[in-house]
Amino acid sequence: MSDIKTEETIDKTSNGSPKPTSPNSDLKLDFASFWEYSPAPESSDFVEIDEKYNHFINGEFVEPVKGRYMKSINPATEEVLCEFAEGTSEDVDKAVKAARKAYEKTWSKLSGNERGKYIFRIARMIQERARELAIIESIDGGKPIRESRDVDVPLSAAYFFYYAGWADKLNYAFPGRKPKSLGVCGQIIPWNFPLLMLAWKIAPALATGNTVVLKPAESTPVTALKFAEICRDAGLPDGVVNIVTGAGQTGSEIVNHPDVNKIAFTGSTNVGKIIQKSLAGTDKKFTLELGGKGPNIVFEDAPLDQTVEGIVNAIFFNQGHVCCAGSRLLVQEGIAERLIQKLKDRMETLIVGDPLDKNTDIGAINSKAQFERIQNYLEIGVNEGAEIHQSSCQIPENGYFCRPTIFTNVSQSNRVVQEEIFGPVLTIQTFRTPDEAIEKANNTPYGLASGVWTDKGSKIFKVGQSVRSGVMWSNTYNKFDPTSPFGGYKESGIGREGGLHGLYPYIKF
Ligand code: NAP
Ligand code: MG
Repeated sequence: MSDIKTEETIDKTSNGSPKPTSPNSDLKLDFASFWEYSPAPESSDFVEIDEKYNHFINGEFVEPVKGRYMKSINPATEEVLCEFAEGTSEDVDKAVKAARKAYEKTWSKLSGNERGKYIFRIARMIQERARELAIIESIDGGKPIRESRDVDVPLSAAYFFYYAGWADKLNYAFPGRKPKSLGVCGQIIPWNFPLLMLAWKIAPALATGNTVVLKPAESTPVTALKFAEICRDAGLPDGVVNIVTGAGQTGSEIVNHPDVNKIAFTGSTNVGKIIQKSLAGTDKKFTLELGGKGPNIVFEDAPLDQTVEGIVNAIFFNQGHVCCAGSRLLVQEGIAERLIQKLKDRMETLIVGDPLDKNTDIGAINSKAQFERIQNYLEIGVNEGAEIHQSSCQIPENGYFCRPTIFTNVSQSNRVVQEEIFGPVLTIQTFRTPDEAIEKANNTPYGLASGVWTDKGSKIFKVGQSVRSGVMWSNTYNKFDPTSPFGGYKESGIGREGGLHGLYPYIKF
């Protein structure tokens, strides 16, 4: 095997590829003699992506009224993947009219049992097309195939299965209260989990008897359009699901359309505030799932090696484009040095590169704009006096890639600690007592998710009762399940999605 080295830095392998860590990562190993990973690209030959996509309105693909198109890029190659329609007020109006007609003539008239059959069919068709959808998600958005294959797509199907099950049981979900549907729901989703966010929105809306106009994000529209094909192939009545593509302006047209009964938005806090203002004074219901800056709290009795895996999953999953990412590590002082060294060693083994390679841990940053935003935050952090450490892996020459990064020597008021970076960038602070950890954890405008690592249930309960976050994971992170509600406190949003709670925003009594 290898010689034990004492140098501060770890040598690169000959081609700079990532290297395994030592089982005892307090010691450094010469990784050059370890085997390297051979490329393991997922074959994408069978996947068909059209050159041009139109809106999906009233059960068919229709050209945009104004005839304008936008481009979606593959962020790993910077090449144009396809064109898609830019929705204007005319397109949104057509979609809302189709959704209203479908609501009144068909969907609201069906029994829950019948609605459930359609939703189950959609869930099964997502499973049947799982490989294709996973590949497209990775090509259009840059996420590693391992994640789109094992997380995004199976979870999307699971949300449809879960809410299909509720469709004929609503009277049991709300005993004695006779829930009624709302009508037409406008739904606007971000680019970090395109198909999964669509599932979170469309599945409960359909289960409760509503119809939908959904706008995917402009950098990742393709799986929503493939989903439109699934709706058509599933025989879903025309107009029940409508997909209108476009940019922020298209989203705004949906929000402000007078015949929409509910808005479900997932995206940034800034846009959430704009939407909330424009809905003030209307009788539209709304849910806002917004940003986060999740504290991940590690007590000194935590099992360090498992915790390191949890920290990696918390911040580097999906390139850190995760609203609930554990982007602020809070470590108890006594173990900080050891934990940080173990984390640095583990970061050296992360493979950054081709999203379609099954070995890849960290894929491409979703867009040029997001890449520049992250780079800007890296500069801000350094200028604020933080110490930056990045893994030494090689990254591809083309495409938008960012090395996994940690900032130490940060203080609570630093912008990199307070603001959502939405990239593979972790800040690390220390604490001495549980109260100090809780104080620091709560000291941002957000309150979406948090993590706690400890051997003691009492500490988990104390932190759980005191940290203001919609979700708390203990001794794990980024675990999702359709039965579990998700949502934020403070500037992380209003309302819950998932679980029984996720039915409320789509019904009235
Ligand atoms: P964003 O800029 O707010 O965009 C979200 C969606 O809203 C996109 O479809 C966007 O269209 C559209 N949009 C932009 N301006 C709009 C307007 N004025 N009116 C209506 N719609 C508008 O957010 P993002 O950068 O795509 O997504 C990242 C953010 O989402 C992060 O802050 C993250 O934390 C948050 N997020 C939250 C959750 C959660 O559940 N809490 C989940 C995932 C992500 P374009 O794409 O064309 O700009
Ligand atoms: Mg794209």
